Amino acid sequence: MAEACCVPVAPRGDDATTGICPHCGRCGRPVALATVQAQVAISLRTLMVEGYRFCATAHCPSVYFTAGGQRIERQQLRERVFQKEPVDDVLVCYCFRYSVGTLQRSSSAEHAAILADIVAGTQQGQCACESRNPQGSCCLGNIRRLIQDVGASRLNSTEVRDDATGH
Ligand SMILES: [Zn+2]
Repeated sequence: MAEACCVPVAPRGDDATTGICPHCGRCGRPVALATVQAQVAISLRTLMVEGYRFCATAHCPSVYFTAGGQRIERQQLRERVFQKEPVDDVLVCYCFRYSVGTLQRSSSAEHAAILADIVAGTQQGQCACESRNPQGSCCLGNIRRLIQDVGASRLNSTEVRDDATGH
């Protein structure tokens, strides 16, 4: 199912048939040129005019790639990429500046407030996901997954503690 986006899309050349990352072999989502232009720390003269995809695979160093074989790796970006480095000070919401660590240390009430803040900002047109977020789209899916993971790990540690005390 995750590979569904990789069925051939309007080939422009013999090699431009799939959205498979040449480094990790996983499917990459199409991303606007404006996103790549905003994110890279290399000369924009080196960029193609279109056809970029974003690789979300954690262990893969490629962030953007084209069917033509160009690869842009994470050290060539101005911003650290949440999917590649989900560590404390890396942002998960690039528009309203919420980091992985902030979410990991927040209570569920604080999580709700953060979600409400992001939704409010989005509704008021204050977000700029296309240029701010390396994935070029809204962070809400990543935020919700991270909050779920934080909740699940707290639940697990609670269970361990309960087991230890015989409850
Ligand atoms: Zn990849």
